Amino acid sequence: MVTTHNLGFPRIGARRELKFALERYWKGQSSRDELKAAGAELRERHWKDQARLDFAPAGDFSLYDQVLDMSFTLGNLPRRVHGFHGDPLDNYFRVARGRSANEAEAEAHDACCGGVAAGEMTKWFDTNYHYIVPEFDAATQFSLDASRLVEQLAQARALGVNVKPVIIGPVTYLWLGKAKDGSDKLALLPRLLPAYAALLDYFTAQGVEWVQIDEPVLVTELGAAWREALITAYGALETRRVKLLLATYFGPLRENLELACTLPVDGLHIDAINARDEVDEVAARLPASSALSVGVINGRNIWKTDLNAALQWLEPLHRSLGDRLWIAPSCSLLHVPVDLNSVTRLDPEIRSWLAFALQKLDELTVLAGALNHGCASVAEALEPNAAAIESRRVSPRVHNPAVKAAIASVDAVLGKRASPYPQRAGKQAAILRLPAYPTTTIGSFPQTVEIRHARSLFRSGELDQAGYNAAMEREITRAVKEQEALGLDVLVHGEAERNDMVEYFGERLDGYAFSQSGWVQSYGSRCVKPPILFGDISRPKPMTVEWISYAQSQTNKPMKGMLTGPVTILNWSFVRDDQPRSVSCCQLALAIREEVLDLEKAGVRVIQIDEAALREGLPLRRSEWHDYLRWAVEAFCITANGVQDETQIHTHMCYSEFNDIIASIADMDADVITIETSRSDMELLDAFDDFNYPNQIGPGVYDIHSPNVPSQEHIVDLMKKAAERIPSERLWVNPDCGLKTRNWEEVIPALRNMVAAAQTLRRAV
Ligand code: GLN
Ligand code: ZN
Repeated sequence: MVTTHNLGFPRIGARRELKFALERYWKGQSSRDELKAAGAELRERHWKDQARLDFAPAGDFSLYDQVLDMSFTLGNLPRRVHGFHGDPLDNYFRVARGRSANEAEAEAHDACCGGVAAGEMTKWFDTNYHYIVPEFDAATQFSLDASRLVEQLAQARALGVNVKPVIIGPVTYLWLGKAKDGSDKLALLPRLLPAYAALLDYFTAQGVEWVQIDEPVLVTELGAAWREALITAYGALETRRVKLLLATYFGPLRENLELACTLPVDGLHIDAINARDEVDEVAARLPASSALSVGVINGRNIWKTDLNAALQWLEPLHRSLGDRLWIAPSCSLLHVPVDLNSVTRLDPEIRSWLAFALQKLDELTVLAGALNHGCASVAEALEPNAAAIESRRVSPRVHNPAVKAAIASVDAVLGKRASPYPQRAGKQAAILRLPAYPTTTIGSFPQTVEIRHARSLFRSGELDQAGYNAAMEREITRAVKEQEALGLDVLVHGEAERNDMVEYFGERLDGYAFSQSGWVQSYGSRCVKPPILFGDISRPKPMTVEWISYAQSQTNKPMKGMLTGPVTILNWSFVRDDQPRSVSCCQLALAIREEVLDLEKAGVRVIQIDEAALREGLPLRRSEWHDYLRWAVEAFCITANGVQDETQIHTHMCYSEFNDIIASIADMDADVITIETSRSDMELLDAFDDFNYPNQIGPGVYDIHSPNVPSQEHIVDLMKKAAERIPSERLWVNPDCGLKTRNWEEVIPALRNMVAAAQTLRRAV
């Protein structure tokens, strides 16, 4: 018999119940017990949903983040919260959010319990989930606190669910963290392993049979020391009595395959979506007593699995492995929405192609049924699955011959500006007549109550299109007037009409679908609803030209057109699995290129194309970076570079770690790039010391993530530091990112100081 299991379930809830429970608690509107009860209720529901599996996961549930949970389980709390004597849950949220969980309580306490620096957050491998980075130093000690797992195991037992605890493995745990004092993290391994041994013994004492121990580092390029650490760690844990299922996901094992197969564990889980071609080799190399778990259902995407195709390769594998074969989704289902059935207003045909977390578990049970009892036993499920797969494969909504023809005719000329930058710069300067240190903003202005109100009235039908447009035009006019009063040089329309920088474009492109409630956790209580790119992409009509033209009509200053770039749209969407990402990206590029050219035709002289997420898309393995950067840059160039010399192209990126990709950024050949730097005191501009970036740069000088108003002196200082690395005639003065999350009361004084700083700098030129 084949064994079915799951690596992790989304914890936020189909209706984002956890989000609301957390936010009530943080606002002081509910008690700690109520929050814990909300968590227990979600776990119970999710375990019931997974009861048909041989093993459901336990310990995958988290009130905030699974990595932070592991830090607490291992007794590794940042030093700054060591003196806290209140409830552990409050300390947990202090690390997560930088403040005591319950704001009302925080006020009752005094300075000792108030705000602390929140733990740093970073992306979980190559997903859009963000975890709290474990903090280490040379003196870090570990001590087991199993209370969270005790509670969850007891609950599972009371409910009669067969669970497999899930923990992050010791090597991946160290790999994910940061040594604050620059010490060697790996030196902590000998101190860390006893805590893991104690945890495994605790599981044994609880009568647990299998533990899932996640080591996704095995799909990355590991140095010798890290490989050695895996051998040491699993050698040390080998003597524990509980059985270990070592889980890898998010990619192929490649050069780590042999290592993974020889670690002394009882079973290995591999990602058969990304590494289908490694399955046979792993099966051949694993010791004859080991279980092989194959992740056959994509845990990262929302398409139905082709069950018949999966069975075709699973059947022979099952024949050779017999009971040693386990099947599961490729990774935790954290990365997909919970339930397709709770989603409203989704086109029925597109819906028939999709599977969210619960539907993926259905698929898994069908596969197990077919393997255990023959295909005939599940024919009722296999037939509609085959029909859905076929309907998607041939659908004219997916395949648009005109788009395919356009892609086929893409050539090198398409992505190249007519003249090199120095020539363009001269022509642009003659038209734009900007002062030295020109000022601008990144696009959005505060999303006010009025904007949100108009949007919700429009959605509910209480406001008609004309009324909505008028409301947006009022906001645009306001933003333009404010910018003129401030004396900014290149203005923006403010993005009032955009709820989200990807969704806005996705809704206007053919080939994109939106779910009303397909929420996926991004971090903590924050969720996103990634749009679904299902078909060949085309632009039925202009998407932004009217708004930008209206904004331009309100001022004589140059108005910057504002678009989201193809790579960012791709990286923040669920994408097609029937063609390479690079092809989808190129289709997006061609569609947005049309918008760029239409803006130019409408007289817009400055066009910004945001690539906020370009860096996020970098593959886990460095050996694959080159290929990604090649097609990503090419897509940007196709989008941007069809304009005349006189049109100034800007791009914006929400980060500033450029050292390793700066040559690719330069290849994009944008006339101006604005980046995020203010928090690092311009240190992140180090990349520009060694690499002579040839075009103009606006290093962010106003940290928009903070409510603080930067002073004029501070901005002048930052710009002077920037001018040490980049010639001042190529510098712009601008905030770090868009201003939509701030309010006007903060933004106006901040921008006033920014403009005053630019004036000071000009006097010195
Ligand atoms: N133009 C967008 C804005 O200002 C850019 C946002 C971003 O970079 N994330 O909101
Ligand atoms: Zn940004």
